[in-house]
Amino acid sequence: MQRVTGVNDLTAAIDAARERGLEIAFVPTMGALHDGHLSLIREARRLTSFVVVSIFVNPLQFGVGEDLDKYPRQIEEDSVKLEELGVDVLFTPTVNDVYKGNMEVTKHAGHIGEILEGAARRGHFDGVLTVVSKLFDAVKPNYAIFGAKDAQQVFLIQQMAKADYPNIQIVVAPIVREESGLALSSRNVYLSTEEHSAATLISQALLAGKAAAVSVDQAIQAAETRLLAIPKAKLGYISLVNKNTFEPVLDGFKGQALMLTAVVVGTTRLIDNIDITF
Ligand code: AMP
Repeated sequence: MQRVTGVNDLTAAIDAARERGLEIAFVPTMGALHDGHLSLIREARRLTSFVVVSIFVNPLQFGVGEDLDKYPRQIEEDSVKLEELGVDVLFTPTVNDVYKGNMEVTKHAGHIGEILEGAARRGHFDGVLTVVSKLFDAVKPNYAIFGAKDAQQVFLIQQMAKADYPNIQIVVAPIVREESGLALSSRNVYLSTEEHSAATLISQALLAGKAAAVSVDQAIQAAETRLLAIPKAKLGYISLVNKNTFEPVLDGFKGQALMLTAVVVGTTRLIDNIDITF
């Protein structure tokens, strides 16, 4: 595995792969890698033989008072995992390599970027789209793989790719969970033992919502009752959106929906979602 920091070194490694006729699959991450991330890398491998992974904690997608400074950073441990998976290039740029002294939003997420996660984290998705576009410009992949765990992020990236990067195929990989049902997240390390067992109730609430999906209202109510009963937790939102538009659905909706929730357990904000067909 080649580890590169500067964009020029990255471009050289990618140009060499292209000259060998290889397609490029790209997995952007913020590091502190867990099995969820690794599943995306395995998916990348299935798609093509040249895999690029980036690790970059993007300041532009963190709000004031969020966990930018304490976000887990463990690049050496991550590097060993990536080596074992046969990743070809690990790209670990500095803030300056990515933003070149100009940390400004260059991509706007629009209306869907302002609901749900975007309502709680103002500007978050503008920051996400800005960094993803800069990484796409640098890597110019054929495939980019993202996790269904961050469903709103995936939706917005798909929209951006459709408009601005039609040659990049966006691939979505399923949510990887612990045996308890808790969706894996780099932020799970913040949870105490007690908080961790409380957090396992989030996915159970979503499953209860799905089981009660005779109607939109019944599904929401079943999930919400359980989410509100989680100890040491504060419900951010529970919502059902049309999977194709991300617009909230009303009672009577028929089709593919996504039920999404954000819950703050202790001081840790966790998100999860589940597919529901009405
Ligand atoms: P992050 O490092 O949190 O920015 O995540 C990098 C990528 O890994 C994103 O596409 C996430 O959606 C994906 N990811 C994070 N957690 C999971 C999970 N539990 N299952 C599947 N993908 C995940």
